[in-house]
Amino acid sequence: MPDSVASVYFGAMPVIHASGGIQAFLPVLMKAAGFDRKFHDKDFIAVKLHFGEKGNHPPIAPEWLRPVTDLIKKQGANPFLTDTCVLYKSQRDNAINYLKMAQNYGFTPGKTGAPMIIADGLTGNDEKEIDIPGQLFRTVSIASAAAHATGFVVLSHVTGHLAAGMGAAIKNLGMGFASRKGKLRQHANMKPYVSEKQCTGCEICTRWCPADAITMNQAVARIDSGKCIGCGECVTVCRFYAIRHDWQTEAPDLQKRMAEHALGVVLNKTHKTVYINFLTSVTKDCDCIGKNQTPVIEDIGILASDDPVAIDAASLDLILEKAGKPIEELAYPIDPWEQIRHGEKIGLGKRQYELKSL
Ligand code: SF4
Ligand code: SF4
Repeated sequence: MPDSVASVYFGAMPVIHASGGIQAFLPVLMKAAGFDRKFHDKDFIAVKLHFGEKGNHPPIAPEWLRPVTDLIKKQGANPFLTDTCVLYKSQRDNAINYLKMAQNYGFTPGKTGAPMIIADGLTGNDEKEIDIPGQLFRTVSIASAAAHATGFVVLSHVTGHLAAGMGAAIKNLGMGFASRKGKLRQHANMKPYVSEKQCTGCEICTRWCPADAITMNQAVARIDSGKCIGCGECVTVCRFYAIRHDWQTEAPDLQKRMAEHALGVVLNKTHKTVYINFLTSVTKDCDCIGKNQTPVIEDIGILASDDPVAIDAASLDLILEKAGKPIEELAYPIDPWEQIRHGEKIGLGKRQYELKSL
């Protein structure tokens, strides 16, 4: 196989069921992908995932983590489970509440085989500035525990996304490991606006905006773009679709910024970084939404690779193959390939892959 092509290992749902389910299949997949020869004695390996939000079920069950942490420990390395605080109002906007929520969902060392650390500290400000050979950034702000980890196992639940088109490995790394400052830099150009015709004056958005950027003017919401931090929370909470983005100009920029932060996380650690994408319960919105969503497509399977660009490209291709239409027709009308194109351009990974079905 040429150097310009990455390997992506794939287990389709029938294969997973025949193996006894996801928990039983994960060791088979990880061995096939060579993840049992990746880590070394005393490595600190960050197992990165989204632990769910108050009001939904965690997309990746605590039990599925045990085979992952066992495999890391067998190689003499030390795994820890991790994520970062979010910008918007949530159970996950500080480390204490996030840890409590995860514990309530069953992410305990007894069940998962590893302790949990919030990578950017109590309120998202523990960070390290990393130099990168990017096109938009020369340095990116990465969560401190991610910067000090030796390697990563990045577990991503693939979903649609209101700002990036798709959330998968690149987003999990780039946004998911950015400190508060890093997240703000990625959102810097995303400024939503209110469609006056559709605003009912319900005021819900004013209560959720973490920057107090929304006020009411004659029963219509108004956004102060000088205060807005671009978190997108108002777009999500408005039930009347009255708050919008100019997707065509803003989404490509966000995706490029995300890919450059992803590069900052794994730079010089790619030989000790692996990815698993879950194409199960693929939903329109990401797992930050505090409610259970109906999947937009039947479960497809699970992928593993040591290349974040290739595994995300394969995820998009498999969704297209299964649904007969791309994710932008199942979720939001945003081209998600921008993150893949830019990722390849800056050396994050390869767009070309060979799918190796188990
Ligand atoms: S949530 Fe939507 S409808 Fe309600 S005030 Fe805000 S913009 Fe208007
Ligand atoms: S107005 Fe800006 S800061 Fe406030 S919720 Fe919307 S995107 Fe976030």
